[in-house]
Amino acid sequence: MEKFFSFPEQLLAYLQCPSCKKGKFIIVAGNEPGLLCQSCKSCFPLIEARYVTKDIFLTPSFHKQINSKGLKKSNYLKDGSEILLTSKKPGYSLSAEVVHEIVKEELPNQGLILDSGCGNQGFKYKINNPRIIGTEYQYYENAFYPINILENSENTAFKNETFDFIISNFVLQSIYNQQLYVNELARILKKNGKIVLSTPSPRWYLAYFLSPSSHVKFLKDVIKNPFYFIASPIKFFLKSHAHNYRELPEELKSSNTLRAEIRQSKKEYYEGLFSKAGLRISKMESSGNVFSLNTRYSFLGKLFKNRRLKKGIHYTYVLKK
Ligand SMILES: [Zn+2]
Repeated sequence: MEKFFSFPEQLLAYLQCPSCKKGKFIIVAGNEPGLLCQSCKSCFPLIEARYVTKDIFLTPSFHKQINSKGLKKSNYLKDGSEILLTSKKPGYSLSAEVVHEIVKEELPNQGLILDSGCGNQGFKYKINNPRIIGTEYQYYENAFYPINILENSENTAFKNETFDFIISNFVLQSIYNQQLYVNELARILKKNGKIVLSTPSPRWYLAYFLSPSSHVKFLKDVIKNPFYFIASPIKFFLKSHAHNYRELPEELKSSNTLRAEIRQSKKEYYEGLFSKAGLRISKMESSGNVFSLNTRYSFLGKLFKNRRLKKGIHYTYVLKK
């Protein structure tokens, strides 16, 4: 793959300070390199000359994460270009494959692409497109390509109307303030740009309940908090099976229960978020079935010939500005 986004020079043109929302950055070299806002003088660290970090509540945790693990320099080519960090192929679930098909159908031939919440950069690997900028709030050790920016997706460092196309695959449900996130995607999308955004449907929670990993997690939670479980078993069960926000700090999880999550996975809820952000739905596909959640038993899901089911466990929206 051609070298495209190596931080910071090439990315700098697309960025503005997320604190004051207007300042341009300059690069500060030295022992602790960073991006300095020329307007409000906020400074954001650059790590391995690749990451800008900005996060309201997670900055200390991912700093710790990065510092304790360190970035393996040997994984990068000498010229710093982006290379595969592992030869392992991405384990795509059936539903992610459907999202991938829709992305391929909608992807423009040119322009800048954002994979918001890119995880291990699986889309960049699958689509094999150097125009993808991948952002995450946490560092993935076994990413296929280095993540370009670590930041808070509710308040990104991108200028208005930067992207022609945005992928947001199964990210929305993990975001603390979902309206802020959708507004932010709309802000950084160009006019006539498109967003492919996938989310869980209420049926996804049934699939999660059928998945062995949800029960393993529940047992672990019981062992960790036996007294809470004994005092209030139903409340505890609902909280443990609430899958989303699980990566948020403890203090922000208190209001999160399974019931609230299922309520927030309905079409009406999503459609409200999109219309408030000024986005139109140009297409919606429902995909996957209760067996297609986990790659381990996705062979069961594949028994169903039509993967784009009317009542699936995922909704994939194509949104326009
Ligand atoms: Zn600033």
